[in-house]
Amino acid sequence: MKILITGGAGFLGSHLSDALLARGDDVTILDVGGDLKVRHNLGNSRFHYVRDSVLHADILESLILKCDLIYHLAAVVGVEHYVGDPYEVLNVNINGTQAVLKLAYKHNRKVVFSSTSEVYGRNPRVPFREDDDRVLGSTRIDRWCYSTSKAAAEHFCFAYHRLGLPVVILRYFNVYGPRLDKIDVGRVITIFMGQVLRGDPVTVIGDGSQTRCFTYIDDAIRATVEAGMNDRAVGEIFNVGSDVETSILELAETMIRIAGSPSKIVFVPQVAVYGESYEDVPRRVPWVKRTQEILGVEAETPLEKGLRQTIDWFKAGNGR
Ligand code: UDP
Repeated sequence: MKILITGGAGFLGSHLSDALLARGDDVTILDVGGDLKVRHNLGNSRFHYVRDSVLHADILESLILKCDLIYHLAAVVGVEHYVGDPYEVLNVNINGTQAVLKLAYKHNRKVVFSSTSEVYGRNPRVPFREDDDRVLGSTRIDRWCYSTSKAAAEHFCFAYHRLGLPVVILRYFNVYGPRLDKIDVGRVITIFMGQVLRGDPVTVIGDGSQTRCFTYIDDAIRATVEAGMNDRAVGEIFNVGSDVETSILELAETMIRIAGSPSKIVFVPQVAVYGESYEDVPRRVPWVKRTQEILGVEAETPLEKGLRQTIDWFKAGNGR
């Protein structure tokens, strides 16, 4: 198959490219970023990197015309962006998705849209079923702009689906692994990674009782590939994640132990890290039955195993 991945040079996109190339597909990625995460594929004749934005309609259209299936992953992701540059988050995530859907509809190409578990916000009732409520804070709190942007984009997906466009929505739950953000930036695992590898204090926000379900990249990619290939997935939302809940304190302790690090844990107030425009999500757990039943995929990599692989990758000097 000829496949277009927007945002294909990012963490998920680079692993998705690997999986599709291994299947024998022809992969084109459209991305504004660098080639750090896809460098190993640049010599492959079935891999094409177009460095541009999804907001450039003419380029986007020429690429959509040449493909059979679109994975729309291009987005501004990461809490530092939600509180640092909400305009860019809203612009790329909403208008970029609209641009992809509009042209996919024009040329009748299936779209798999990467959404997020952030969509559920801080709904206290876990596990989250795909049709559950979204519970968000005030629009004065920038943190919610990401969740809102992805929810608006999901609405666009369903609006186009109603017009006849085949779409699938995937909501990812804290996916991690080699090639996650650069060390010290981005998500909690890369922030802790830098601290643990240097032996610095590990900064647990609040009391560390907040939980996440960390999902190893290979498990997330199996669900992603299947979502593109399986006709029963069309018109559906799927949670993509492990349902094993881990507190942030437990994550810090586990990373310190696995890395054999002398780091100590320090508890820091959230305002000291992200300022006033941040609110935490206390618990985030997916209901995984639909993904198991329709996509036939479940997350099976234990946290310790996934963390070991991730730590080894960063220890080898990658991601700096
Ligand atoms: N976190 C932390 N210390 C840090 C960075 C993050 O304790 O230095 C916590 C954060 O408060 C949240 C969790 O780790 O509860 C996951 O944060 P992340 O930014 O990875 O993404 P989120 O799951 O909140 O979207």
